[in-house]
Amino acid sequence: MVEGDLDRPAELTIRQVDGHPFAPFQVVGEPQPLADVRLVSPVLPSKVVAIGRNYADHAKELGNEVVPDAAPITFLKPSTSVIGPGDRIQYPTGVSHDVHYEGELAVVIGRLCREVPAARAADVILGYTCANDVTARDLQKAEPQWARAKGFDTFCPLGPWIETDPGSPLADDLAVTTTVNGELRQAGRTSALLHPIAELIEFITAAMTLLPGDVILTGTPAGVGPLEPGDEVSVAIENVGTLTNSVVARG
Ligand code: MG
Repeated sequence: MVEGDLDRPAELTIRQVDGHPFAPFQVVGEPQPLADVRLVSPVLPSKVVAIGRNYADHAKELGNEVVPDAAPITFLKPSTSVIGPGDRIQYPTGVSHDVHYEGELAVVIGRLCREVPAARAADVILGYTCANDVTARDLQKAEPQWARAKGFDTFCPLGPWIETDPGSPLADDLAVTTTVNGELRQAGRTSALLHPIAELIEFITAAMTLLPGDVILTGTPAGVGPLEPGDEVSVAIENVGTLTNSVVARG
């Protein structure tokens, strides 16, 4: 369990818990400086359900019309695409020549659920983390299904932790920013989501059961663009944290 003030990252501490975050747990041991430990992905989801074109400005930048009242676009990223903070995104050299970052707010589900009405969506959320929906844009354009373009190993960085109290239960007005090598590339707010989180949970669970630890990626704002080996990409979400990963050529 990470404790402290996000505005003072050097003072954050971490304590061990006995148990797991999906049930009552005991906090044990003494706090240690967070800088002394290596964080891994905060969750190992059975599935990552992702939403496409959920910000109008991003849909437009890729030449897609936003149709009023259209249903959310959903796709899955495999569990094997998940990596943690500080892990390296492997650029699939020779398979894709146009790999993009997509900074997104990720919802972490806290309990087994299905057919959840929007009004009860907050009950099934454990918390929030940052995600990078890394995408082989050339394959996404060339292939009718996005499974391959979105599903390479390492294409779903998550972290750095699960924030259980981002200030509002449905995270409905948080800044989402992405930087590459320190340069700002994306700046949006979750208040601009075409389909907000409660609606997404109702829509997804009308089809499939969500398990504790499953993750929903809520879509990316405008400003997507290419990554290259050697780049460092950070997704920051207000009141949640910052997820940083470097990019290397796949060996
Ligand atoms: Mg995306």
